[in-house]
Parts: sequence; structure tokens; C-alpha cells
Amino acid sequence: MNSRNYLLGLVLPSLLFANLCAAQMPHAARPPHKAPPPRNKPAPVSARPKLVVMIVVDQMRGDYVDKFKGQWNAGLKRLLQEGAWFRDAAYPYAATETCVGHATISTGALPSTHGMIANAWWDRDSQKMVTCTADPDAKNSAYAGGSTKGGDSAWRMRVPAFSDELHFQSGRAARVVTFSLKARSSITMGGHKADAVTWFDNGSWVTSSSYGSLPFIDDFVKAHPVKSDLGKSWELSLPQSSYLYEQKATGAVPPQGWKLTFPHVLKGKEGSSEPDEVFYEQWGTTPFADTYLTRLAENSVDQLGLGKSGGTDFLGVSYSSVDYVGHAFGPRSWEIQDILVRLDKDLGDLFAHLDAKVGRGNYVVAFSADHGVVPVPEDMRKTGADAGILHVPEVQEKIEKALEPLNYPTPVIARIASSDVYFSTGTYDRLKSDAPALHATLEAIRSVPGVAEVYRAEELQDHPATQSAIRNAEANSYFAGRSGDLLIVPKPYWLVSGAPAASMEISTPRPRVVSSTASRN
Ligand SMILES: [Zn+2]
Repeated sequence: MNSRNYLLGLVLPSLLFANLCAAQMPHAARPPHKAPPPRNKPAPVSARPKLVVMIVVDQMRGDYVDKFKGQWNAGLKRLLQEGAWFRDAAYPYAATETCVGHATISTGALPSTHGMIANAWWDRDSQKMVTCTADPDAKNSAYAGGSTKGGDSAWRMRVPAFSDELHFQSGRAARVVTFSLKARSSITMGGHKADAVTWFDNGSWVTSSSYGSLPFIDDFVKAHPVKSDLGKSWELSLPQSSYLYEQKATGAVPPQGWKLTFPHVLKGKEGSSEPDEVFYEQWGTTPFADTYLTRLAENSVDQLGLGKSGGTDFLGVSYSSVDYVGHAFGPRSWEIQDILVRLDKDLGDLFAHLDAKVGRGNYVVAFSADHGVVPVPEDMRKTGADAGILHVPEVQEKIEKALEPLNYPTPVIARIASSDVYFSTGTYDRLKSDAPALHATLEAIRSVPGVAEVYRAEELQDHPATQSAIRNAEANSYFAGRSGDLLIVPKPYWLVSGAPAASMEISTPRPRVVSSTASRN
């Protein structure tokens, strides 16, 4: 799903620093909200943390904290009680997708500097789509006899990660370990020189030749195969009366084999008794995957002795399942509330483990989201808001029609990826010096329902001085050579869809299906 409209929808990130080491970390522009006084006096803090723990919850909207915090009793509650809560944080760039968010959190730089402008973009040299981590010189390998393909690394990320800087600045042998279901999350957090970067690929836990593999992860995966969760059931954790909204979330499109109501059983394809791709998709859409990542993280603390290197080690965990659940059931669902209740417990376990093995006051936790999510358009329309789906094929059709009488060689469009329009080679150079044709093109794009604005690349590069927050955000997302020739800004609450207008109803959010590329977030 494209998420430039996340920014327009004012979905804010929630950034929390806990264990009261926040003074050593980079601050947001405004002072943090004062957290309620802690129940227990915090432990004294060592001058230099022995371990930095970076937790990212994929697609966790900032307003979930206010709405659902009464349902939390463990790790999330502890972060709120003992940490500094940056309530006024906001994403200053336009394309709030997973790879972009993780790279920004990890490097402290904006996409216009770190270069990770999207999960995937059109590569003008090879004339094909590339993912942000695709690396022709790397080869992926699976732990525990699993299978995988391709090669991934952080080579497209143009600056060092925070974890890389731990090595460079301390001159010590800091250990860096990251885990996620997604390569683009694990890799961007781990940076260029991590000791172990691990992600999940359709049943297999995977790393790449860029990082190498560690025996303890192999042992853990062999001892705890995901397939042993086959047949388990995701049940509600709280009494039904505790949940906000309807049990059947508006516009929900659950993974294959599931109904709209609890319980959700991990059973794979109909009639299947073996783990299959449907089972693994279901599994990633449950709290069981978060628990697994937590156990992997705890195990790495034990096996590598994180926090005992004499320097500052780094543990990064990106919990992906809130994103998958959000795509399937939307932000106003029992499923989102329940997976956060379960994540709260997992984080409570993780912090208790760190207290025991690293020691209270010896580690610092930073907690954030990589992006939020727009409400389901049908839900928004009930409130009277202007909401809908912006269909990319309609944009392409309108541009082609506008240029048809002007003798431009076809096809004029190489690709529209998310909301970046890439013209075929040479076309945009010609358009730039052909004012009537350029005007017709821009007017054609503006005529598509859901389009708020369209910027030309030359209006965004070199960080122009502007009073427009949206243009500034687009400029912060613009990376010459990678970004499109034209950049479309959707209206607030409008989803960008790769599907043609006729193929779907407005009432069907189906972000997984409407994405212009697979698994956009
Ligand atoms: Zn994400």
C-alpha cells in the first residue's frame, strides 16, 4: 500500500525511550510528554549503556497507545511508566513505508540522504522493479535446512546505521544482532556490518552472505520449528466486553482459510495436514510470530552474551505481525487490540529477561513504529470524510490519453510504482521542454479521483525553500535517480491502488491486493 496519505492523515508515530537513558539519545524537536511517576524507583543508569535495544512495531499507529493502553499490563505498560514518551513526533517525509521507516530510524537520516525511498522502486538502469535490499552480489541462505532464494543486503542504504556507528565510534567489538519477519526491516536495522541479520521467508529463517550465519540461530530454529505451531489457535486474550469496535471489522479481508471472527486456527490450506504457504501466511498474521521473535531475541542475549562485550551492543527487533494483522483486519479491529495485548506480554518477558541477564539500568530501549496506516475508506466515509481508492491504472490511462495526440512514442510510461511516475527513457526530458504537453500531463493526473497534488522532480530536488509541509515532505523523500519523474500526492484517507477501478468496490480495502506491488509495507 502506498502511504503518502499516512502523513496527510496525521497518523503520528509513537516514540518511547525507556530505562531513563533518553538523555543520551537524539531528541525529537519538542520536549517529551511527562510520563506518570514510576511505581518502582528506576535503577541507577550506567554512563554508557551496555546494550541498546531497538524495537520497531510495524504499522503501529501512534493513537493505539492512547486508545488501548488500558489493556496493557506488562512490557508496553512498563515503557509508558518508566520511559519518556515523545507524543508530538511526526514523520517529516512522504513515503512512509516499511523500508523507509526502518532506514530512517536506523540511520537518523532522511530518505533524501539514506536513499531508501520505498520498499521497491523502478530501476532505470535495469528497466525493472528492485526491492530496497536486493543485492546482485549477495546470496541468501536458510537456517536449519530450509530453503530461500535471491540475495539481500544494505548496500542501497547510502549511510551507516546507528549500529555501524557503534563499531566506528567506540573502536570496540560491539555485537549487532537483528530479527524480523521482513528482510527490509532486519537489514536496515542491522546496517552494513551486523553479526547476525535474520528474517523469515515462507517457512524458513534466512540470512545472507553479506552477514553470514551464526550456529546458535541454526540450533534454535532446529529445536523450535515454526511448523510445530500448526493446529494452534489464536483466541481472544481478554473478555469480549474489553474490546472496542465491532467483532467483525469493517472491510476485513482475513488470510485464506480464516473467518471474520475469533478463534483463528493455524491450519493451512483446506484439508492440509502439512505446513504450507497458507499456514505460514496465517502464522505471520498472529501473535505466535511475535512470541517467536521474542524468544529468538532472548536466546541471542544468552548465546552471544549481549551487554557483556565491554562496549555497547545492539539488539534490533522489528515485530512485523501488527502490520500483517492491520492489512487483513484494519486498525479498528479486535485483532489489532488482541495482538497488542499479546505483544505487551512478550515485551514484558523480553524486559524481564534483559533485567536478569544484562541488568536493570545497563540497557536502553527505544521503541517506535515505521509508519501507521490509514483507516479503511468505508469506515472513514461513515464519518462523512472524503475517502476512497486512487487507482494507478487510471492515472496511467489518463497520461497516455493526454499525450496521444502530441506524437510521443509509446509506451510513454515505464512504470508507476506507488505514487512515483517513471516515464520511458527520454520521454520526461522531452516533456520538460514541451510546456503544453507537460501541462496536459499534469492536468490529466490531477483529474483522477483521490489526487491532491502532483510534483515534478525538479520541484523537489535540492531541498527547495517552501512553506508547504507536503512539498517539504516530498522533498525529504526525493532521491535523484531513484525517485520518479512525477510524484503524486494522494488526498488524506485515499489509498493508492494498483488495481483497475472496475475490478474492485470502494467497500473492499484489501490493501494486500490493492498494492501496486506485492507486500508494499
Ligand atoms: Zn511497515
